[in-house]
Amino acid sequence: MIRVGALVKRYAAAAEPALRGVSFEVASGRLVAVLGRSGAGKSTLLRCLVGLERFDEGTIEVDGVTVRAGDGPRGLRTLHGRVGLVPQSLDLFPHLSALDNCTLAPRVVKGERRAEAEARAAGLLGRLGLAAEQGAYPEHLSGGQRQRVAIARALTMEPRVLLYDEPTSSLDPSLRDEVRRTLLTVKESGVTQLVSTHDWEFARSAAEWVLVLEGGAIVREGEPGQVVG
Ligand code: ADP
Ligand code: MG
Repeated sequence: MIRVGALVKRYAAAAEPALRGVSFEVASGRLVAVLGRSGAGKSTLLRCLVGLERFDEGTIEVDGVTVRAGDGPRGLRTLHGRVGLVPQSLDLFPHLSALDNCTLAPRVVKGERRAEAEARAAGLLGRLGLAAEQGAYPEHLSGGQRQRVAIARALTMEPRVLLYDEPTSSLDPSLRDEVRRTLLTVKESGVTQLVSTHDWEFARSAAEWVLVLEGGAIVREGEPGQVVG
């Protein structure tokens, strides 16, 4: 569950706040889209939710843990274990296989043993349709496959909430459906998902609920078929 209350984020260098009082809730296991054009504040919102960005006012609650404006790095770190982010740039390690990309964080951050980390990573890659690509390096994977490796990698940390920053933007439009199917597969495991996008068609086809972000504020929300551009 995500509950965001009156969230305000100002960047020191910017005249206008990037987020100006954002409030919304996402129930556990739901798949929700944040729609907005470039500059609306989507990435800022996701970075706040994952604890990468301090914020100036408001609260973020994830599965019973609340972080408040002014909380320092320790407060923000409580979000790290609960919330995963699939960044827009994906940031896969080019010199590591798909499997090794997925075992690095569990081994380094959680101190998991190799065999244990590999077993779970292999299971996740298999569920996302990448059983045959475990040993492949990122340069030999398609854009859609790299995307799924990045998603599997985020899931290895067992987040309760997974955020995606524009998962379709770098892909061919025909791969929208592939991303949509992946989100539905992840949904089966009960993970709460929030997907930022500027792609109305994708949001309408994939999400159960849509939040429209404009100029750092949520201006509308509703069922995908009901919300208009
Ligand atoms: P989106 O992801 O929807 O394109 P962003 O969250 O990246 O939007 O940006 C929201 C606003 O915050 C924009 O006006 C952007 O220029 C500004 N912004 C984003 N990151 C920074 C930063 N590090 N410093 C100053 N301003 C920023
Ligand atoms: Mg962005």
